[in-house]
Amino acid sequence: MMTDVPQTGEKADALKDEANDRAATAVEKSVPSEMSAEDFRRYGHELIDWISQYLSTLDQRPVLPPIKPGELKEQLPPTAPEEGEPMARIIADVDRLIAPNLTHWSHPAFFAYFAISTSAPGIFGELLSAAFNTNGMLWRTAPAAVELEEVVLSWLREMLGLPPHFEGIIYDTASVSTLHALAAARESLGLRVREDGLAGRPDLPPLCVYASEQAHSSVEKSVIALGLGQRAFRRIPTDERFRMKVGALERAIREDRNAGRLPCAVVATLGTTSTTSLDPVAEIAELCHANSIWLHVDAAYAGVAAMLPEKRDLFCGWEKADSITTNPHKWLATPLDLSAFYCRRMDLLRQAFSLIPDYLKTDEPVRNPMDYGIQLGRRFRALKLWMVMRYFGRRGLQAMIREHCHLAQTFADWIDDSPDWERAAPVPFSVVCFRARPPQLAALDAREIDELNALIADRVNATGRAFLSHTRLNGRLTLRLAIGNIRTTRTHLERTWELLQGALRATVAEMQVKRA
Ligand code: PLP
Repeated sequence: MMTDVPQTGEKADALKDEANDRAATAVEKSVPSEMSAEDFRRYGHELIDWISQYLSTLDQRPVLPPIKPGELKEQLPPTAPEEGEPMARIIADVDRLIAPNLTHWSHPAFFAYFAISTSAPGIFGELLSAAFNTNGMLWRTAPAAVELEEVVLSWLREMLGLPPHFEGIIYDTASVSTLHALAAARESLGLRVREDGLAGRPDLPPLCVYASEQAHSSVEKSVIALGLGQRAFRRIPTDERFRMKVGALERAIREDRNAGRLPCAVVATLGTTSTTSLDPVAEIAELCHANSIWLHVDAAYAGVAAMLPEKRDLFCGWEKADSITTNPHKWLATPLDLSAFYCRRMDLLRQAFSLIPDYLKTDEPVRNPMDYGIQLGRRFRALKLWMVMRYFGRRGLQAMIREHCHLAQTFADWIDDSPDWERAAPVPFSVVCFRARPPQLAALDAREIDELNALIADRVNATGRAFLSHTRLNGRLTLRLAIGNIRTTRTHLERTWELLQGALRATVAEMQVKRA
């Protein structure tokens, strides 16, 4: 059970004062009192100090907390408090119970999944957004939020080199962006699915969706959610660089057409989840165009790298897509969550989703965000992105992405130069896929090499000084090092490389003893 943290001196007095003030006000009004302006300032300052300290000393915390499942729950009461508690005690519990039991995504040695990063302007944006608590469902309900969203999306679009016919909208995640893209694709076929539902159209053939075998699972989930059926989802094989094989895609589309099925959409990925590979989007776009198939480009992680002139060629052809997603919350120093969705046919999204009850009807000649998706209420996400873009500027953001790519290339060079390790995929951005393959264990079979690599990762992660994740490529367990945090420096990388070398030596020695 949660126990009160003993408070001393000034803090204890503050606690008592706050409790007394609140009790007095509550009795007076018989309703819960909002925090006084004075307390708001006091705790606001305290929290900002706490956050500043947290962010600047993250290096000293273990990236992964040493917590076992259920351990936090055991320390929290099973029911909510009957009476309000002093803020000071709540903040103390954040410090004592919550922070130490978090996986620290802002840790500069967090190299797992896609490493992401918050930033000071992003945090301020979130804080203000919570203070405004404005609901951007309609222009009328949040004029500045709705207009700012259009402005930041157009800034971002220009930075990415996308043409102005792409209109945008902000959703929470890439998964939700993809769901909307496929809903628009389905709508583009003019099948009256909105009115009849797929169950009401037994005359329709299966609507097929195509993505590479490296595409994110959210594509398949969208197919499920839209009622297209998992069986209508086609995973297209990839080449040795993990890029969708266009020939295989073409064959799959032809076979489906010949069998009476209806190709609905292709999802090409620029920056796949495992290796950050790039599907040949220009060729895929041509194929989609020739076959009148919707093309959605999932650039959730890598899309923002298009703002680097030296990377722009990697995105060649994405401007021909019908819709594109990129997530500033992945690689643009913007706190979770914010996914930018661009579409050349916003009218189709509107057609698919707009449903305006009387109480939400307005007269202004404006774009109301509620018409372009399933959600009504909308957080003011644009604010944090606007603040991030203004604070760092195009040059600052470009420099951050460029540095991350440079660090990844440095790490890839260390791997390439070492006889104990091998690289498992090209490194177009800031993720390196690699595995240990020490010559002294040349006799190990594939399963044993997988085991060796899993043990190395566990060993590194158990130190708390770095966190790496894994994937499977061609059936083989592969380690991934992903760089995306604004605070990550070469020193963090060097330390992690030392940890990996140490873990390799210890694990090899252990395995040799076992095999002797
Ligand atoms: N698409 C790609 C390529 C991804 O890598 C991911 C997640 O890492 C997603 C989509 C899903 O992103 P989200 O968490 O924003 O839904």
